Amino acid sequence: MKNIQPILDNVLAGGRMTADECTELLESHDYVRIGLAADEVRKRKNDPDVVTYIIDRNINYTNVCNVVCTFCAFYRRPGKPDTYVHSIEEICKRIDETIALGGTGVLMQGGLHPDFNIEWYEELLTTLHAKYPDFQLHCFSPPEIHNIHLISDLDYETIMERLKKAGLNSMPGGGAEILVDEVRKKVSTKCTSQEWLDVMRAVHSVGLRSTATMMFGIGDDVSHRVSHLQKIRDLQDDTGGFTAFIPWTFQRENTALGKKITKEPTGIDYLKMLAVSRLFLDNITHIQASWLTQGLKLGQAALKFGADDMGSIMIEENVVSAAGADTHANEKELRYQIGEAGYTPRQRDILYRFVDRGTNQAEPALVA
Ligand code: SF4
Repeated sequence: MKNIQPILDNVLAGGRMTADECTELLESHDYVRIGLAADEVRKRKNDPDVVTYIIDRNINYTNVCNVVCTFCAFYRRPGKPDTYVHSIEEICKRIDETIALGGTGVLMQGGLHPDFNIEWYEELLTTLHAKYPDFQLHCFSPPEIHNIHLISDLDYETIMERLKKAGLNSMPGGGAEILVDEVRKKVSTKCTSQEWLDVMRAVHSVGLRSTATMMFGIGDDVSHRVSHLQKIRDLQDDTGGFTAFIPWTFQRENTALGKKITKEPTGIDYLKMLAVSRLFLDNITHIQASWLTQGLKLGQAALKFGADDMGSIMIEENVVSAAGADTHANEKELRYQIGEAGYTPRQRDILYRFVDRGTNQAEPALVA
């Protein structure tokens, strides 16, 4: 087995990993050693005793989508009978339920609707922001912004300025999948890798923060994953706008791609990807465990492989659950899982600031 310790020693001494070294780590089977190094870096970057989580809700405002992604089980083509668009009243009802559960914000994303121009999004945000001024609107994704660009003929920066003015607080990093067009074009007709990156640059340039994601196991290999990490790290060097990185594996059920793929990433592949992300992305503070896609126990193990955050309790989620991710946890259970792994659970908001709800917060005790 190739000795990877010099690469890890360099990172632990504050050095920056090269793409070739990143490849070596992802090809190594010495994942425990990689995990230990990632855990050490995580402890230096974040409070070593604390694991954070957020209470928010995914509201998927429409399932109408005018592109095709073969890994997606959520979308419906325009004009099909089972399409929907949530009304403002339906969205407000969901926000009211989220606030009642101690939620601080909402993650709102939808398909690429052929009729939704910039004014549609501005009206949605303005209405919600007026009704819930302190509630964080963490919404949309680069493919949705690119869709507005095509419909309204506006550049990304103008769109982001207008959405920020209408009440947008930050943007999720969805729709990244693998930022290599050779892979991307085989599974999706949505925006290119460069367009995804250009939207994120515009998001950061208007002073908004965002997350970055990666969904692997869609026909990509190690070289594609390294290239993805390199693009995220390079953009972060320029803008500093990413708060967190969230990798997860393709969920195959009910998808066209799932019928073709013969080899799925294993739990070990996931943990190794997470740990290498922590080591390579030296300019991103938070790495999130995806318990929703990996299950609660692997999510717990991820906390020893570089993750410092357990993400959301997911009061509602429709996209990856349509593709087979069916893990559920309420706040009490998530706090229990974090506590059992040896950490103090702390609720955070979308900008990773601690939220203190005092005695209302459920104690980390096992759900019966
Ligand atoms: S992943 Fe998004 S863009 Fe792709 S088909 Fe599904 S809803 Fe549409």
